[in-house]
Amino acid sequence: MKARLAFLLFAISLLVILVVINNKNNNGNNEINEEIHHISDLEFQSKDNIALLRHKTGEIEELNLNYYMLCVVASEMPFKFEFEALKAQAVVARTYLYNKIEKNLEDVADVCDDYAHCQAFLDLCDLERIWKEEKKYSSEEIDLGEEKIKKAILDTDGEIITYDGNIINALFHSSSYMRTEDARAIWNHEDVPYLRSVESVEHPYDNSESECRVSFVKFKNLLIEKGYYNELSIEDIQNIKINSYTDSGRVKDLTLAGSLVDATDLRQFFGLKSTNFTINIEGDELVFLVKGFGHGVGMSQVGADTLAKQGASYKDIIQHYYTGVDITKIN
Ligand SMILES: [Zn+2]
Repeated sequence: MKARLAFLLFAISLLVILVVINNKNNNGNNEINEEIHHISDLEFQSKDNIALLRHKTGEIEELNLNYYMLCVVASEMPFKFEFEALKAQAVVARTYLYNKIEKNLEDVADVCDDYAHCQAFLDLCDLERIWKEEKKYSSEEIDLGEEKIKKAILDTDGEIITYDGNIINALFHSSSYMRTEDARAIWNHEDVPYLRSVESVEHPYDNSESECRVSFVKFKNLLIEKGYYNELSIEDIQNIKINSYTDSGRVKDLTLAGSLVDATDLRQFFGLKSTNFTINIEGDELVFLVKGFGHGVGMSQVGADTLAKQGASYKDIIQHYYTGVDITKIN
C-alpha cells in the first residue's frame, strides 16, 4: 500500500513538472512570436541611409540602412535558420558594410549589390517571389520570416565586430564541413589574427557534398586558356595528383605535368563548391567530390545555425568564428 502511494505521489509530481516545463516553453515561443509580429516600419527604420551601387544599371540608390540590412541578411541566410544565427549574420553584415565604408573600398558608393564583390543584395520583392515560387513558403511563413530578420537587426542595432579596436573584415561562407580555413592559407594574405582556422561542427543539409565532372578536353582547354600551360596531354591529366593540403584539410595544390596548380584556381575555373575535395578518374572525365561550400574563411553559416541549435548566442557564434574579437556599438 505504501509503495503504491509513493508511486502515485511520484507520478503526480512528474506530471506537475512536465506541465510547468511545457508552459514555460510555450510562453517562451509566444513571447518571441508576439514580439516578432509587432515591428512597424517606423520602428524598423534607421536614422542613417547608405548609397548602394546597382551593378545592372550603374545607378546609385539611397537606401535606409535597415532596409539594406534586411535585404542582405535575407539574401545571405535562410530565414528558417535559428534566430541567434540570424542575429550573428546581421552583425556580420553590418560589420562588412562599415568596413567597406571606413576603408572606402567602393569608389562611388558605400557598397554595391554584387555578391562576389560586396554582399548579396536582392530586393524584397525578388526575395518574396523566390520564397513563394521556388521555396513554396506560405504567406504566413514569409511574413514571419521577414519579421524574424527585422527583429534580428533591431536586437543587434549598431553592433559591429572589432579586433584590437578596429573594425574587422567579416568574411563568411556557407559551410565548412569540419574546420574553417585560415586566411593565410588561401590568398597568401598577410596574417589576419581574427581569421584563423577553427572547428566547425555542422548539421547535415542538402548538398553538403557535391560532385563536379569535368571532361579531359574541357580541363585541358581551360587550363591552357588561363595561361597555366602551353600544352597538356591526356596522359598528363590522367596523372594529376593532389600535392599538399592546408592545415584545415583542404587541398592546397595539385601536381600536373611537372608543375603545381593552385586548388583555389581550380575551384574558380570549374565552379567547385570548395577546395575540400578528392579527385578521381572515370572514363574520360575528372570527378571532383566536394565537401562544404565557399572559401571557408570566417563564419560558417551552417556552423552558426548548428551552434545556435545547441544553445549558443549570437555573441558566442561570432566569438567562435572570429578569434579574439569584441562586439561593440558603432559611434
Ligand atoms: Zn562592391
